[in-house]
Amino acid sequence: MQHSFKTEYPAPLLLLMRELQCLPGIGPRSAERIALWLLQSRHADPLRLARSLHDAKQLLKDCSLCGFFTTEDLCQICSHPGRKENPLCVVETPHDVIAIERTRVFQGSYHILGGKLSPLDGIGPEQLRITPLLERLKSAPPPELILALSADVEGEATTHYLTRLLAKTGILVSRIAHGLPAGGGLEYADEITLSKALAGRQAQGGS
Ligand SMILES: [Zn+2]
Repeated sequence: MQHSFKTEYPAPLLLLMRELQCLPGIGPRSAERIALWLLQSRHADPLRLARSLHDAKQLLKDCSLCGFFTTEDLCQICSHPGRKENPLCVVETPHDVIAIERTRVFQGSYHILGGKLSPLDGIGPEQLRITPLLERLKSAPPPELILALSADVEGEATTHYLTRLLAKTGILVSRIAHGLPAGGGLEYADEITLSKALAGRQAQGGS
């Protein structure tokens, strides 16, 4: 007679593995390995990890101006006195802000869209922080606005959409030069490539 019963891990461990599998790039095997390590290794401190996740989620909010992470109303960049006199750089994600900051060549401020136009995923202009951008430009127009979006189809579509929209504002609009990894976001570019892309930015005609 064959056994139909198959021994599995107890439910709390299976639940932990399922949660870990929701993380980007973690498949079932990695989730199993991480879960077992967290529970068994003397180097692991799962409660400290849980606390730091909880604290990060509780303490961090979006900057009311640019959308970057902050624990205050305004982030470190928006509350810096010199930065608002300089160009405003429009990016997709907080990760892009850090990628540009690491180049140390940009001394302006940012506006995070929260993604790019992607009709197939149901992301239209209303899903992005475009209205707050227009309000911001009206109340404090920057000397230049730099569009630094991905070089893929959705990034291009978003750049064109914003170029047309911003033509009416009279603000000088430029876009970063290409040479960024094809189809990739800013976070995949190394610092030198990104510095060159910023330095080689081109003014947009607004057509
Ligand atoms: Zn900010």
